[in-house]
Amino acid sequence: MKYIFLTGGVVSSLGKGLTAASLGTLLESRGLKVALQKFDPYLNVDPGTMSPFQHGEVYVLDDGAETDLDLGHYERFTDSTLTRFNNLTSGQVYKTVLEKERRGDYLGKTVQVIPHVTDEIKNRIRLVGEKSGADVIITEIGGTTGDIEGLPFLEAIREFALEVGREHAMFVHVTFVPYIKAAGELKTKPTQQSVAKLREIGIAPDILVARTEKPLEEDLRAKISMFCNVPVEAVIEEIDVAHSIYEVPVMLRREGMDELICKRLGLETTPPDMSRWEDMLQRLCEPKNRVKIGVIGKYIELQDAYKSVYEAVTHGGGANDCGVEIVRVGSEAIENNGGVKSLAGLSGVLVPGGFGERGIEGKIRAAQFARENSVPYLGLCLGMQIASIEFARNALGLDGAHSAEFEPDSPHPIIALLDEQQNVTDMGGTMRLGAQPCRLKEGSRAATLYDTGEINERHRHRYEFNNAYRDQFEAAGFVFSGTSPDGGLVELIELKDHPFYMASQFHPEFLSKPHRPHPLFAGFIKAAHEHASG
Ligand code: GLN
Repeated sequence: MKYIFLTGGVVSSLGKGLTAASLGTLLESRGLKVALQKFDPYLNVDPGTMSPFQHGEVYVLDDGAETDLDLGHYERFTDSTLTRFNNLTSGQVYKTVLEKERRGDYLGKTVQVIPHVTDEIKNRIRLVGEKSGADVIITEIGGTTGDIEGLPFLEAIREFALEVGREHAMFVHVTFVPYIKAAGELKTKPTQQSVAKLREIGIAPDILVARTEKPLEEDLRAKISMFCNVPVEAVIEEIDVAHSIYEVPVMLRREGMDELICKRLGLETTPPDMSRWEDMLQRLCEPKNRVKIGVIGKYIELQDAYKSVYEAVTHGGGANDCGVEIVRVGSEAIENNGGVKSLAGLSGVLVPGGFGERGIEGKIRAAQFARENSVPYLGLCLGMQIASIEFARNALGLDGAHSAEFEPDSPHPIIALLDEQQNVTDMGGTMRLGAQPCRLKEGSRAATLYDTGEINERHRHRYEFNNAYRDQFEAAGFVFSGTSPDGGLVELIELKDHPFYMASQFHPEFLSKPHRPHPLFAGFIKAAHEHASG
């Protein structure tokens, strides 16, 4: 088993996760089995309790783990299976160490960062190795080199590489080479200093991936090579992509990165086959048609809050030869300035998941606009609850209809707390989480799109459709096209007399891949394109 450790330097937001994921793509294209994991130095046990302002999207796995959004990239770029073991936070490490201490497992020793915390980190690398049986384990260390909280992770990977043998482990450092406009030059000093910081800890990078907005000329590569002590061919340019993040693997391949890695780790592989990936890229980058999709959310100003949703919409575009322009509409803006006017000209309306009351009325108005004007609508989790509340109020005349999450005393609690949630007091990891089976109604649009009768989709919610209202809704043309196998929970809804009005209690965006677009997103973009072409 071989190990690649990815660190980041100079600044955050370099796209380290994308680089790790892209390495996964490249190694898989050579027939290798890869496993990817992320280490996050913060003290939260998982990101599930963090606000999107702090963290961006919380990505959910089949097993219900709430994880860092980089795991979303891993799943979209590779076929590797991820579980809760593939995302380790300092919080988890310390929790385990302290539990062991309380049990007396340390037999009277002083419990210390080295070796007890670092041992726990190394154990996790081994565990992921054992569980995955992969040829290569790619481990991404979150944060920026030089952060105090990242030190135990760096110490752990240094020790680990020594223990497994340096020929089986390598270090890739992703760094930033800024372009200084006034000087008209790219600058290498921050890279030199960040590598120096790593070497202080005892890690000498084997490969430097230089994130840059301008091409790295030969002299600059030579300079980085000389001062950072890596061969010049191990200075890899990762320039800002022109069209799509899915170009990154192709770019790294052009730089010879996979070749370099295989040589360094002594991996004999079949020649790389990137044809499937390149076909997909072509469809994404050179679409014949265009559609405009409005995403109605309260965190639209944040790049990362709806990451998987934006990606899945793009995949749906690829399935239909459509470039997707995503129009981010603030739900509060719909409430305050001019109402649904901002939705004019959209080919589709999407309401993603969310928590809390802010912006809810704006989302309800967006759903109403889509329903009444035959504009394709896709609702995800909260987006399904919104669609149901809107239908109750405006199609069934149930005044004051709402979700108990926002209006506990509503006369018509269309959305109510799940039974299993009644007595939950802890916030962390206690929602209805992860993959759950769902049965599709014969003859429904859902059954046609999925082309099967039973599906498994990922969840993250506390509230559900209130069954007391089912008959009334059904009589008015609201179709419950997906339910839990026992029929007890509503999972998917659609409208009969509408070109495309669908919403799910689950999060289909977590299962969409660029080369395997999710049926709901593919169907949504198809309908949006038809709507746009009149
Ligand atoms: N807030 C809603 C619930 O808990 C929806 C959650 C979501 O959209 N992920 O049920």
